[in-house]
Amino acid sequence: MDFKDSRILVTGGSRGIGRAIVEAFARHGARTAFTYRSSADVAEALKEQVKGLAFQCDASDFAAAEATVNAAVEQWGGLDILVNNAGITRDGLVMRMNESDWDHVITTNLKSVFNYSRAASPTMMRQRSGRIINISSVIGLTGNAGQANYAASKSGMIGFSKSLAKEVAARGVTVNVICPGYVETDMTNTIHKKIKEQIMNAIPVRRSAMPEEIAASVLFLASHDASYITGQVIAVDGGLTM
Ligand code: NAP
Repeated sequence: MDFKDSRILVTGGSRGIGRAIVEAFARHGARTAFTYRSSADVAEALKEQVKGLAFQCDASDFAAAEATVNAAVEQWGGLDILVNNAGITRDGLVMRMNESDWDHVITTNLKSVFNYSRAASPTMMRQRSGRIINISSVIGLTGNAGQANYAASKSGMIGFSKSLAKEVAARGVTVNVICPGYVETDMTNTIHKKIKEQIMNAIPVRRSAMPEEIAASVLFLASHDASYITGQVIAVDGGLTM
């Protein structure tokens, strides 16, 4: 895959899946920008490594998203690929979930996708080309006890993406969703060993994914080979949801 000089923005790119996406695009010759919230040292090191742009901003902040996209577009003269990846969990049963855990997850995981898509789509439509790839989750497909806020945010991304895909398709912009299964990152490394064993037993391939395996599916959707794919939801989950 050749992404030489392609211009890519990834939200939540400092760690985990987002970082693997930034690194993979950079390896394939792309110009990369990423956002992060708090891990400044890690982000600085990655910025140097990929010779890219790094923006410290909360993905749920509408004005900051617009400023970030505008800064990247100004620097590069356009934007080819947006990956909405920033996400968090604040787990708890609905009957005990407090309002801030609900709001924080919905604004970080779902409103952020609106924020960045809203900011990036006019440029992509003007260019008559662009790719928006949203990182949802298998939990958005199946639900999960203790993760109603997270599941709602991830299901919401799917409805949003299909709607946007219909709005921008005629202007050469595709919008697709990846639903990762269980991926080895900071987000999952606090899960108790017993629960982890149960999850592994439920995954047909009997293992978790590495972030690079999710990045590979993003690169495919961003590539020329995926030019006729839009409004789709692709589970990259070792068969968990089949
Ligand atoms: P992670 O290791 O916790 O990394 C999260 C990344 O998002 C970090 O770069 C973090 O930046 C950034 N971030 C968090 N909140 C942010 C905010 N408000 N504004 C800007 N950036 C923010 O998570 P991950 O496992 O790579 O997950 C990435 C995405 O994949 C998420 O959307 C997650 O829901 C989804 N996903 C993950 C799994 C899994 O098994 N890991 C499975 C399905 C879906 P800082 O470093 O500054 O905090």
